Amino acid sequence: MAALTTNQLEAFWLPFTPNREFKQRPRIVTRAEGMYYFDKDGRKILDASAGLWCANAGHCRTPIVKAIQEAAETLDFAPTFQFGHPKVFEAAAKIAALAPQGLDHVFFTNSGSEATDTAVKLAVAYHRAKGEGTRTRIIGRERAYHGVGMTGISAGGLVANKRWFNALAYPADHLSATYSRQEQHWSRGEPAWGAHLADELEKLVALHDASTIAAVIVEPVAGSTGVLPPPKGYLKRLRDIATKHGILLIFDEVITGFGRVGAAFAAERFGVTPDLLCFAKGVTSGAVPMGGVLVDKRIYDQFMNGPEHVPDMFHGYTYSGHPLAAAAACATIDLYKDENLFGRARKLEAHFEEAVHTLKGKPHVADIRNVGLAAAIDLDGIDSAPGKRGFETMKELFFKHDMMCRVSGDTLAFSPPLIATESEIDEIFGRVGAALAA
Ligand code: PLP
Repeated sequence: MAALTTNQLEAFWLPFTPNREFKQRPRIVTRAEGMYYFDKDGRKILDASAGLWCANAGHCRTPIVKAIQEAAETLDFAPTFQFGHPKVFEAAAKIAALAPQGLDHVFFTNSGSEATDTAVKLAVAYHRAKGEGTRTRIIGRERAYHGVGMTGISAGGLVANKRWFNALAYPADHLSATYSRQEQHWSRGEPAWGAHLADELEKLVALHDASTIAAVIVEPVAGSTGVLPPPKGYLKRLRDIATKHGILLIFDEVITGFGRVGAAFAAERFGVTPDLLCFAKGVTSGAVPMGGVLVDKRIYDQFMNGPEHVPDMFHGYTYSGHPLAAAAACATIDLYKDENLFGRARKLEAHFEEAVHTLKGKPHVADIRNVGLAAAIDLDGIDSAPGKRGFETMKELFFKHDMMCRVSGDTLAFSPPLIATESEIDEIFGRVGAALAA
């Protein structure tokens, strides 16, 4: 494959990327298979992040590839406004079957951002349909990432994503982040400290009044900010307070869904069922864009009372349940089941945990956290250039140690495909150790 021309490099504005730096020495992959990416020269690059937390089944898996090919040949596109096609119903039923009881209906989107936006809209519309139209506010959490739609950045808690667009913000307030280095240093899995932070929802109810609050949205494990597992008991407490005040609980499982925490969803792993559950990424193992919201039966039923010739929900996307995505989702879920990949992730968790925590004490390592097959390493930042050490380490890993991982500020995040072997996991953290030593 020929190298990209300067014009081609300039034309594409990479998202969430320092473009000038990237274009000086691009990090480009041309092929993927299983646990690996390859560049145009055939260099084999270990994927320690499942791409962008997506490829849970590994890359270019044959059953998924075949399902997409077949869909492209037989039904390239079909609308889901007033019409349908078999695969979208099949995909919805397969996803609902994986979800906790009650989450029986699926509204499809094309991304995680659209999923969180859809969940918030469904929550607000649900309250209005019940005659509680003043419930419009959303409660998010500091350090949360819910994508880049306006409700997502409003509920989200990452200032870099918010400050440019603040003037457009949707009404939201925030719980505190669940992380405290002092209380949770080097914790493994769910930290013991922090369940009481859920009680802040009571304070926000006292401040705003429950009659103004539609929903509270949280990532069960905050992912993009650097893998913050929920404190023991936190999610249950949040569930109870939300229920008490008639506030809907939304889990954003765009990262945690489809096996990342060793169960179909974090809701199952932590034994707490939300009213709405957002998913994306792993639903197709990243092979075709798809997202969606699992919806509790009573919410769905609330909308099934109007005239039969009028849409019950004035919301949707041209590509909601696109045939290629629906086919990919069906094949991916079958593959997860056939290879018991969620169970495999749960079994690998102890080994993964040991492996990442071997980095304690290595140069610049300030803290380590993990749950399921997700882990983060906080590095000591450089005072004059926050984020630089993390960024340089990511580059060192890519160019010198043939590995792709995620970086967010000075935090490195790891979320390998669930097909990883123990020796590939050892390899991942061995390479990180070498990069840090350098
Ligand atoms: N929600 C969470 C928890 C995410 O991690 C992400 C993306 O990483 C999103 C939403 C947004 O998803 P997308 O980038 O597909 O819009």
